Amino acid sequence: MKRFDAGESLKQGGLKSTRYRRAILDILAESARPLSAEDVFLRLKELSYAANLSTVYRALETFAHKNLVEKLVIAGENKALFGLGRAEHAHHLICLECRSILAVEHCPLGQYEETLAKETAFEIAGHNLDIYGYCPKCRSKKGRTV
Ligand SMILES: [Zn+2]
Ligand SMILES: [Zn+2]
Repeated sequence: MKRFDAGESLKQGGLKSTRYRRAILDILAESARPLSAEDVFLRLKELSYAANLSTVYRALETFAHKNLVEKLVIAGENKALFGLGRAEHAHHLICLECRSILAVEHCPLGQYEETLAKETAFEIAGHNLDIYGYCPKCRSKKGRTV
């Protein structure tokens, strides 16, 4: 696997490569799961960056806008998670209790997109699909308390 190059990624997005922006992208690259702006902010502080939450949030929004990162919005919550778009197309199972996120690599929508394209004459460029529920760990906890 090619190592992620934050400077290269910023260049591709037409953004100026600053130390701060590279640090944010590197934090996302090192994380196994998508992070919230707060998570990134705390990690920047650990790395001794003079960070503030609103600039972190703005940088993440800019990256999402330029398609450098993937933005996931948890249903019914005013909270977004950001992750590096994987080279592979993936969907996510999101646990509403503990917030764990599992990537599902199999995409069931390829055939559906083709059918839809034929029916609507739409040129389909992509889709998002996130699935919400309760993970096995949280399900068994619930089973005990309810
Ligand atoms: Zn859970
Ligand atoms: Zn898909």
